[in-house]
Amino acid sequence: MSTTTVGPMLKNYIAGEWVQSQSDRYEDIPNPATGELLSRVPLSTKDDVDKAVQAAKAAFPAWSETPVVERARIMFRFQHLLWENQDELARMITLENGKNLPEAHAELLRGIEMVEFAAGMPTLLMSESLPNIAKGIDCQVIRFPLGVVAGITPFNFPLMVPMWMYPIAITAGNTFVLKPSERTPLSCIRIAELLKEAGLPDGVFNVVNGAHDVVNGLLEHPDVKAISFVGSQPVAEYVYKTASAHGKRVQALAGAKNHHLVMPDTDLRRAAKTIVSSAFGCAGERCMAASVVVAVEEIADELIQYLVEESDALKMGNGLEPGVDLGPVIRPAHLEKVHGYIEKGIAAGARLVRDGREDAKAKREGFFLGPTIFDHADAEMVIVRDEIFAPVLSVLRVRDFEEGLAVISKSRFGNGATIYTNNGKWGREFVQRVEAGMVGVNVGVPAPMGFFAFSGWKHSFYGDLHANGKDGVEFFTKKKTVTSRWFDDGDTAIGSQKVFVK
Ligand code: NAD
Repeated sequence: MSTTTVGPMLKNYIAGEWVQSQSDRYEDIPNPATGELLSRVPLSTKDDVDKAVQAAKAAFPAWSETPVVERARIMFRFQHLLWENQDELARMITLENGKNLPEAHAELLRGIEMVEFAAGMPTLLMSESLPNIAKGIDCQVIRFPLGVVAGITPFNFPLMVPMWMYPIAITAGNTFVLKPSERTPLSCIRIAELLKEAGLPDGVFNVVNGAHDVVNGLLEHPDVKAISFVGSQPVAEYVYKTASAHGKRVQALAGAKNHHLVMPDTDLRRAAKTIVSSAFGCAGERCMAASVVVAVEEIADELIQYLVEESDALKMGNGLEPGVDLGPVIRPAHLEKVHGYIEKGIAAGARLVRDGREDAKAKREGFFLGPTIFDHADAEMVIVRDEIFAPVLSVLRVRDFEEGLAVISKSRFGNGATIYTNNGKWGREFVQRVEAGMVGVNVGVPAPMGFFAFSGWKHSFYGDLHANGKDGVEFFTKKKTVTSRWFDDGDTAIGSQKVFVK
């Protein structure tokens, strides 16, 4: 960990300096695998937010006028530094979040892809033009950055989710204020240092640590032009409504309940392996995790047997240790809430076929829950309706494809959905008709690469333009449409304009 900045008390990063928060309220950051205290995070104030926004505002004129090719070159240097520091960064992710080291490296890789995408900004910012739309008149669209923009991020991908935002935003010419999750703020500290090392001018990227007050400070601030949010559904809805009411552009990516439909013709062992990896990887704390299996009745018993066998084979423990598959969940309070859901599932009549609480009994420290599987759940049960965000999987049994689709469409969420089949007809029907924005065909985590939009539907997304890909570039830029005509000396003809106006 960086010795300069990750001390016992975290600071904010404003105008290229580490600045103490004005707040005297701090929260502990424990390592979820051990409970050991890693650092303490300030719950910064609206005044701290204002300082960061003012720094970003001051940096904007020079940064937005820096040629885009020069801005992109900083991303190339930054990408290089991310590779150079990959082991340290992955270790930080594991320490603060609990996911295992291979998962942390995978997270970093997905983030690096966003930096690589943003490094193509000169091409991405190129725009439309049409000469001679009327005689001697040309029309052209030019893109401009918005100004100061902000990102508010969740705990589950502490490094990658911010990278859905700031590489595109700043390479497009905006200046940025990040509010990382107060539960996992450590890796972004290293990011601030690496961006500076890559040559990013002070004030272009700022970090304000904290919780609600920082969020509200950003949502209400008149100089913040856009908010990119990723987090749980109720907060996403609140952020969307509040920031919109303050005249801002908003994209708010929210919670999920991802259904996986298993058809009888698929290889059930292979499907079970894929589902277990999707459901229990990153301790189920992924917005694209499988959380409901919709199994066609005739294969349900066999599938559940395989799901249990595959889950039994997972090694639970501290993600820093080699060979660990399943790390802890983020906090004891979250674990307690998840235990509550397990009790509710049992009370509602679902059959608990694998109880992960038993695995956790062997752990003396950390916030662990083993793979937990319910059978005979139904779409009305709270364990199926709510996002639990933990290694808890519910299996519903259906007669056929049509009933499976109908069950999936009942979910208020629409982030991801997957079908397991060898039948092209079912595969195609599923893609066409399922009510979810990111669809997998025999793919357990159909999260698109950063070149594509992260396109959740229903209550998994609030806004118009999604994060990542061309949508991300659209989100962080505004268009100007220019219509121009040039005269020769002595040219008095304006007839073409008349034609144009008609
Ligand atoms: P969260 O909603 O608790 O927190 C997200 C951010 O909002 C944090 O920065 C937090 O400080 C802030 N926040 C929390 N409560 C707030 C409040 N009442 N007022 C103002 N700000 C508040 O989410 P989390 O637990 O950190 O992350 C997990 C959630 O994120 C899950 O629901 C998951 O599905 C979702 N997620 C969604 C996507 C996606 O792409 N759709 C991706 C990753 C995570």
